[in-house]
Amino acid sequence: MRDEIIAPVKPRDACGVCGGFATGQDMAFLTCFALYALQHRGQESAGIAAGTGGGKKMWVKRGMGLVSEVFPDSAELKKIKCNLAIGHVRYSYGSEGRSPENTQPLRLRYRHGELATAHNGHLLNSRSLRLELEEGGAIFQTDTDSELLAHLVARQGSINLEEALAAVVPRLKGAYAFVVTDGRKVIGMRDGYGFRPLSLGKLDGGYFLSSETCAFDTIGAEFVRDVLPGEMVVLDEQGVRSLRVTGAEQESLCIFEYIYFARPDSNLQGKNVHLVRRELGRRLAREHPVKADIVSGVPDSSIAAASGFAEEARLPYEMSLVKNRYIGRTFIKPTQQMREEGVDLKLNAVQKIVEGKRVVLVDDSIVRGTTSLKLIRIMRRAGAKEVHLRISSPPVSGSCHYGIDIPNPVDLIANKHDLEEIRKMTCADSLGYLSMAETVAAVGLPSGNLCQACFTGDYPLRPEE
Ligand code: SF4
Repeated sequence: MRDEIIAPVKPRDACGVCGGFATGQDMAFLTCFALYALQHRGQESAGIAAGTGGGKKMWVKRGMGLVSEVFPDSAELKKIKCNLAIGHVRYSYGSEGRSPENTQPLRLRYRHGELATAHNGHLLNSRSLRLELEEGGAIFQTDTDSELLAHLVARQGSINLEEALAAVVPRLKGAYAFVVTDGRKVIGMRDGYGFRPLSLGKLDGGYFLSSETCAFDTIGAEFVRDVLPGEMVVLDEQGVRSLRVTGAEQESLCIFEYIYFARPDSNLQGKNVHLVRRELGRRLAREHPVKADIVSGVPDSSIAAASGFAEEARLPYEMSLVKNRYIGRTFIKPTQQMREEGVDLKLNAVQKIVEGKRVVLVDDSIVRGTTSLKLIRIMRRAGAKEVHLRISSPPVSGSCHYGIDIPNPVDLIANKHDLEEIRKMTCADSLGYLSMAETVAAVGLPSGNLCQACFTGDYPLRPEE
């Protein structure tokens, strides 16, 4: 996933969650490794809460930065004796500010002990729930939906976390994958629409939950199944059990997970992300063929689609753009003059490859259009004769209410300009977007089971006014 420096206008995911219960495992250590696998879902902060499983005081560490910065010595985590842990990587969304107090997992103390909570997604009724709690005297320390959930749970009389959550969940409206622990068990929940992913894996001695299956491979867990929309999964010393706590709505897994967010080695609903992206590229080549010499993808998320395009078009796939992986998140941004001259520290074109060539450049999406313009300028500066821009998804025309940070609709290029105008503005020789029907067909799931709202405007769940 490209970061803010090269792609300030790409949609960004709003977090990854994981957590498990397994006897005889170093759960804090394993959770840290799972967080490394989920790092692409959020790079602003990371954290782990771990407990023995007996409900005693939990160990919690969280901080701003990458997993490697918050946990520089992961071997130290082996010393923490724990049978359970939950973890979180974060990218802030909407009203949830980018500040240290919003790092997760949050730990709160209440009358029955401790609670640690972390989530991916966005509650649409968070404002009204928060107001209601504040009117009742609640004091919030963060802007997060995780804290809101903890307050709602603490207000339930039951010491039993499952019972308390089961009473609270029907009140939550929105998109979420939560992981929660009281130091005795770990509970994972998905909203009734299943907007955000969550999968269950088997570990030696227990079970593990993760936003993406790639984390299971990293920690030696075996994929069991995806958590169902509206399902609550409880992991404790007895193993795993499942409860349905909210009505199952029309399943609406975010289609952008396949296009851009998820890691290529993850499987969502049984569909491998890399293979879906390659199929997106194949279909794109059929829908928008063009006479060209080579095909290239924008690193990293568009390489699979570009390889599918090349295969279908019977053109050579070439690496035209090289990404510098060693530029940190905090390096000094180029000056306006450098930007205007097309200087880019993050990406460069391979001149010997593109010089004099007609290049098909495949990217996964266009949001504001400024990134596409910059990429095409880089290619032209390196001597490309023609640059044909091909996008492996439809035009993004709406924002997301479900936890993905997409700019306001007025800032989306597809809302302001038609195809020919966008082509001119990005300096492409030709431009083609994959249609919605072909995008859905490439995923291979029924259209009704995928949220496509930022492309179609058909929102499964409307936000509060
Ligand atoms: S609106 Fe777009 S980004 Fe948001 S969940 Fe739906 S498909 Fe995903």
